[in-house]
Amino acid sequence: MGMSCAWRLAQRGIQVTLLEQGAVGKEASSAAIGALWPSSMPTPGPLQRLHHESLRQYPQFVKELSEATQRAIGYMRRGKFELVTSDRHLTQGLKEVEFASGARSAVDGMPEDQPVMEWLDSDEARQLEPNVAVGEFGALVCHRSAQIDVSDLLAALESACRQSGVDIRPNTKVLGVELNAARPTVRLADGEIEGDRLLICAGNGTPTLSQALERVAPVRPIKGQAMLISTRRPVISHIVKNEAIFLVPWPDGRILVGSTTEPEAGFDISNTVSGVQFLTHGAISTCPPLADACIESIWAGLRPTGPKRKPLMGPLPERSNVYLCAGHFKVGIGMAPLAADLMTRWMLNETVTDDERQFIPQADSDPRL
Ligand SMILES: Cc1cc2nc3c(=O)[nH]c(=O)nc-3n(C[C@H](O)[C@H](O)[C@H](O)COP(=O)(O)OP(=O)(O)OC[C@H]3O[C@@H](n4cnc5c(N)ncnc54)[C@H](O)[C@@H]3O)c2cc1C
Repeated sequence: MGMSCAWRLAQRGIQVTLLEQGAVGKEASSAAIGALWPSSMPTPGPLQRLHHESLRQYPQFVKELSEATQRAIGYMRRGKFELVTSDRHLTQGLKEVEFASGARSAVDGMPEDQPVMEWLDSDEARQLEPNVAVGEFGALVCHRSAQIDVSDLLAALESACRQSGVDIRPNTKVLGVELNAARPTVRLADGEIEGDRLLICAGNGTPTLSQALERVAPVRPIKGQAMLISTRRPVISHIVKNEAIFLVPWPDGRILVGSTTEPEAGFDISNTVSGVQFLTHGAISTCPPLADACIESIWAGLRPTGPKRKPLMGPLPERSNVYLCAGHFKVGIGMAPLAADLMTRWMLNETVTDDERQFIPQADSDPRL
């Protein structure tokens, strides 16, 4: 989030200093497996509309980033193939199909005759993904969903920031922020820095920056374990989702497998036996040929999560020069294009839509996840 916003602001002629406690792109973002899709909700609403909009912007975002930096960025729009597991799931899925057809856009780059989302019965679904264990309720396919190589993306963002003049200062931990001063001020180990405007994209570090932020931005970590496996030949051609398990396949046989959701784990990032079991069992039951895949690596990360699992994007209450962009939970990589554009519009006093205003930080947020 920090690098995407810094890049977009610098492109608009703003002089940006990016303060990072360690190295950029190493915390939650480096743990992501790069699935780009709208989140599912029993009743789709503003957040899903913003997710769709961000996915729609992704091809252009990647193209611009790649051209600006002369770097290849692995990006493919292969679509999401989601197994439907019950009657209730099917009812909800059909609502999403209807909702997604309303989120269609002429500049999407999708073929005219292709729906954004569709439901396939079990025969059609098996034909499309013969190695997947499709059940009686078939599958939902979201053609707008895509995948990105996250390490390519983060390296390109860092390079784009540097090229556009962002002053990146690694190993610079912000110890606190002073929000009441006329100009927002951040406290560092060796002094203070002030600026015209402050944008806080500190992920799980956000609430530690001031007492006010603890109330306004109670962002909490939700641990996720994930792994990389490989097969000799490709066995699936879409991002496959089966309840909490998802498989992101690349044409060279690599498959990223995500992920556990462990809100009770706090800041622990160990890989546990039950985590490995969840991922391996989930992968094999979704796609039986994966029993023979090799495990390449396994890791865990902490998803910065806003109240009620929704992001916080906008100015702080009663402050016109301090902004927040954090708490994107499972969709932070997917939301990068839209969030960067939105924060730029907020900070330059440009138009913000009613849907986007739903995520303005509130004076006393309910800290429950
Ligand atoms: C296993 C796993 C799989 C995931 N898969 C996906 C996926 O497929 N698709 C998707 O869209 N999302 C996915 N996510 C979620 C995604 O990773 C996050 O939503 C996103 O990376 C959050 O980005 P961020 O910039 O807000 O946070 P971060 O990447 O954590 O960045 C915050 C930065 O702030 C810095 N910071 C914090 N405190 C301070 C301080 N006091 N001073 C200076 N710097 C500070 C940190 O060092 C860090 O670099 C996944 C997450 C996990 C864990």
